[in-house]
Amino acid sequence: MTNERLAKGGEFLLNEAIGTRLFTPEDFSLEQRQIAETTEAFVNNEIFPDLERMEEQDFPLVVEKMRRCAELGLFLVDAPEAFGGLELDKATSMLVAEKLGPTGSFAITSTGQTGIGTLPLIYYGTAEQKARYLDKLTSGEWIGAYCLTEPDCGSDPLSARTTATLATDGSCYLLNGVKQFITNAAFADLFTVFAKIDGQHFSAFLVERGMAGLSIGAEEKKMGLKGTSTAQVVLENVRVPLENLLGEAGKGHKIAFNVLNVGRLKLSATVTGAAKSAFAEAARYTVERRQFGQFLASFGAIREKLADMLGGLFAAESLLYRIAGLIDDRIATLDRGSESYYEQYQKSIEEYAGECAIAKVFCSNTLAQVADESLQIHGGYGYIKDYPVERYYRDERINRIFEGTNEINRLLIPTLLLRRADSGELDLWDKVAAARQGPCSDAPPETGGELFDTEYDLLANQKKLFLLLLGAVAERRRDQEILLALGDMAIAIFALESSLLRAAKIMAGATERKRLLLQAVVRVTAFTNAAAFQLAANRCAAYGAQGEVLSELQLTIARLGTYPVQGLLEAKQQLAGAAAESGGYLF
Ligand SMILES: Cc1cc2nc3c(=O)[nH]c(=O)nc-3n(C[C@H](O)[C@H](O)[C@H](O)COP(=O)(O)OP(=O)(O)OC[C@H]3O[C@@H](n4cnc5c(N)ncnc54)[C@H](O)[C@@H]3O)c2cc1C
Repeated sequence: MTNERLAKGGEFLLNEAIGTRLFTPEDFSLEQRQIAETTEAFVNNEIFPDLERMEEQDFPLVVEKMRRCAELGLFLVDAPEAFGGLELDKATSMLVAEKLGPTGSFAITSTGQTGIGTLPLIYYGTAEQKARYLDKLTSGEWIGAYCLTEPDCGSDPLSARTTATLATDGSCYLLNGVKQFITNAAFADLFTVFAKIDGQHFSAFLVERGMAGLSIGAEEKKMGLKGTSTAQVVLENVRVPLENLLGEAGKGHKIAFNVLNVGRLKLSATVTGAAKSAFAEAARYTVERRQFGQFLASFGAIREKLADMLGGLFAAESLLYRIAGLIDDRIATLDRGSESYYEQYQKSIEEYAGECAIAKVFCSNTLAQVADESLQIHGGYGYIKDYPVERYYRDERINRIFEGTNEINRLLIPTLLLRRADSGELDLWDKVAAARQGPCSDAPPETGGELFDTEYDLLANQKKLFLLLLGAVAERRRDQEILLALGDMAIAIFALESSLLRAAKIMAGATERKRLLLQAVVRVTAFTNAAAFQLAANRCAAYGAQGEVLSELQLTIARLGTYPVQGLLEAKQQLAGAAAESGGYLF
């Protein structure tokens, strides 16, 4: 470990990140790269050739592929060593998820198994529960499912109606209710079901498929992810043994929300993998298709799309692995032998819950942009099933809805920050006070100077503006429109910062060509995120202030938040040319 400091959750909005530890994809070890290669080979050789059959809901085939996944050890990545697992770091776990991402349905089925289907047991199960079920899940003998959503409660899971009532003889709980949209339902063997004990105490239970009273509804007919199973799980007086209560009675919310933090990061990884793959389809097509006697790659309209997509992908990848590294570094400080290890482990993840929400929103939005533009680059052919972009486009949409809708996640970002400030973990309000004293004397970003100086200035100014605006609208922070704008500002800051820090870190060891590409991608990312930031900042100001205060804020946003970019067109042309030449993602 270096002597660099480990940043606290949410701290990126308050302080400079220079001098804090930063993990980037360039830091992957040989072992991590080998696991990635194994996963990639499995996807290319064993999933893609059968994907069409799997998309037609040949579930026995899907289960067979899940067992192959297990044979390759991919289900062992997150499992504890004490139970035969590999207990690898989050960076490796994300890398595996990223490599599975391009398969769409299979990525969701398999990360449904390793993520929400198994993590509740790993984090909250007793030794006896783990001994009974974990090996079955990691060996692929059993498939797991996570049952939180109900027909009348999705974003608000604590309003669940499913009940768990102690049987009159005290021998078991009787579970009654309906769970909606459950991934893997058709072939799952173990269901983590959330229900309220006595209709009040939200709790989690391990429910086996064979328990009488559990039945599976009809398959939903979906827009995308055709190869996953999504169905209702119906519970009618299901007798669940007392020892199948997971974690403490009444503490189910902890399980639900903590598992979702990792779930969100895993989803960020799968969508980043899918986006890279969709992008490669588009990049290759631009040098296959000719119109007006020229390859598509020679048209500025197409080059601009490729460059913008690359900017988004670079930021998505940079922030995803930055967060995985932060969580890993924090977990590395824990004592694995300690009784409270998993409790501390949870706290380490919870620390970065805001960053996980940022990743979920940014990465799923990036895939949305990439899938849409990659299809557009294919013209009419993109709309035809024979071309893979058609599937990427359909499969993409759900990522902005599940694992907490993007609205819920955008609201969470400032909410968690304010909560951390209230509990004294962050000196947010001191920073707000300091920002309010100084903005008029601050300078707009300047061009020239050392490499990335302009972008670092922009970043510092964005942080000041965030604090300034937070101070200005603090009274109205219950308005969702304002919280969403603050969330969007935080996302833009984190995306720019992660790209910038990564590029600066790897610059020295890069070839001359790579250095030029890194400069170009930082320029594009800074331009895009400055625009997103300014839009959100102006929304925030307009919603939360009026009169002279608003006018002053608007001027300050324009002065401090504008990116005085130079050479943007050349940067985009360079990136697009390199992507078309290499046929895919560049970094
Ligand atoms: C294919 C698929 C697979 C799924 N897999 C699973 C699974 O395995 N397990 C599981 O438990 N669930 C699963 N889900 C459910 C999924 O997590 C929910 O659909 C999601 O959480 C949204 O809930 P909802 O659909 O009820 O929408 P609602 O909560 O009704 O939301 C509707 C709209 O209102 C907005 N909204 C809601 N509340 C607020 C608020 N407080 N403030 C602002 N805006 C708000 C939302 O952002 C959304 O735009 C799956 C869903 C699908 C479609």
